[in-house]
Amino acid sequence: MWLSPRDKNNIAQKKYRITKKGKLACQRKAKKYREINKLKVNARVKLEYAVKTGRIKRFPCRECGDNNSEGHHLDYNQPYMVIWLCKFHHSEEHNKQYDMVSKKARK
Ligand SMILES: [Zn+2]
Ligand SMILES: [Zn+2]
Repeated sequence: MWLSPRDKNNIAQKKYRITKKGKLACQRKAKKYREINKLKVNARVKLEYAVKTGRIKRFPCRECGDNNSEGHHLDYNQPYMVIWLCKFHHSEEHNKQYDMVSKKARK
């Protein structure tokens, strides 16, 4: 059976994952993910509360002026440091970030 390097890599990864070390690495990754997620949820809840209590003013979308905006966090450690964007521009902003991370060249 011919295996592409990618398949071989997948098999190696599968084998690695069932080892004790691999399992630990997997758990660590999951834990890290949960922590980041917690930070994210926490930031959102804090911001929502601050808006509700009038501590923070909600601004219209930075891109199109839509009043139905949501806070986009630049840093989840700073819940009140946000850019206000509508649903559409918010998801666009996240796609942009994703592109930067994956370094996908797109025309
Ligand atoms: Zn917008
Ligand atoms: Zn965002």
